[in-house]
Amino acid sequence: MTELIGNTPLLRLRTSGEGQSAAVYGKLEYLNAGGSVKDRIGLRMIEQAEHDGLLRPGGTVVEASSGNTGLGLAMVAAARGYRMVAVLSDRASSEKVAAVRAFGAEVVLKAAGVPREHPEHVMNAAARIAEETPGGWLAGQYDNPANPEAHYLSTGPEIWRQTGGRITHLVSCIGTGGTISGTGRYLKEVSGGTVQVIGADPASSVYSGGDGRPYFVEAAGHWKHPETVEDVWPQSYHREVVDRVLPITDRQSILTIRRLAREQGLLVGGSAGTAVAAALTVAAEAGPEAVVVAILPDSGRQYLTKYFDDDWLLRLGFLDGDPAAARVGDAV
Ligand code: PMP
Repeated sequence: MTELIGNTPLLRLRTSGEGQSAAVYGKLEYLNAGGSVKDRIGLRMIEQAEHDGLLRPGGTVVEASSGNTGLGLAMVAAARGYRMVAVLSDRASSEKVAAVRAFGAEVVLKAAGVPREHPEHVMNAAARIAEETPGGWLAGQYDNPANPEAHYLSTGPEIWRQTGGRITHLVSCIGTGGTISGTGRYLKEVSGGTVQVIGADPASSVYSGGDGRPYFVEAAGHWKHPETVEDVWPQSYHREVVDRVLPITDRQSILTIRRLAREQGLLVGGSAGTAVAAALTVAAEAGPEAVVVAILPDSGRQYLTKYFDDDWLLRLGFLDGDPAAARVGDAV
């Protein structure tokens, strides 16, 4: 089972319009066995914990997650005979919650939008459950070095190999920061520092200088409750690896994935839209010799009740005419 994680394909995206002649590729992470980029860290974190003696036969894996890490861990836990408790925010799509349960994991749902210090915040609840459960182990993706390391050891080398060393720009969302930090560090090292690493970030997320207001794209960026006193950035995010971070609105992200599905037959999730929208901006600036690779973290199937549901979009005002959004879509 776990050999079906990694070695995902690169797909060249069709681009059109002025200045769009740079090649843009999407790394199709939804083709990992559990359906997202987070399978890679699910496997790596569990293997490291087994190696370090933190997770033993009969043990319980516990994690706070926006869904995909819970899913990746639940899949690997099922394959290896561990129990799993996933603490998910009630903002996670119903498809992800159902899939975590399908792997036999216990799901604890907590309200989104509570301050980080609050005992009912997903991360505090997960830490407490891990502590109170005999044989419990908290995966802790936000601060676990095995998270960026998984990408340093797999995602980065795969992209280098698949582009024959021609990649010039990596574009990735930043949630825990593991993907961009590990993949980016590998690609910088192997290219002698020439590969540019660009973060794609929901527009109000703090990583791109936003005020931390909530946004709709799941699992990317970092939002901050107004009452949060001290805002701690994850240790899995290595800021020195990242050259710049581009803010992308919810509307740009959502319209981009809808067009990718309708015009290129590529059904990917909201954060993939954030990454592709940023990749198109980078490609337009970089010129025809550039080779831009965007990480597309998961499938649109996980969001059929959200970004691909017209009623949901209409209710939230995303389908109103917006010339700026239309321009981004037009470039896809
Ligand atoms: N997009 C999706 C759909 C994700 O599940 C995640 C992981 N939370 C990310 C983007 C961000 O990846 P990372 O945590 O490695 O920064």
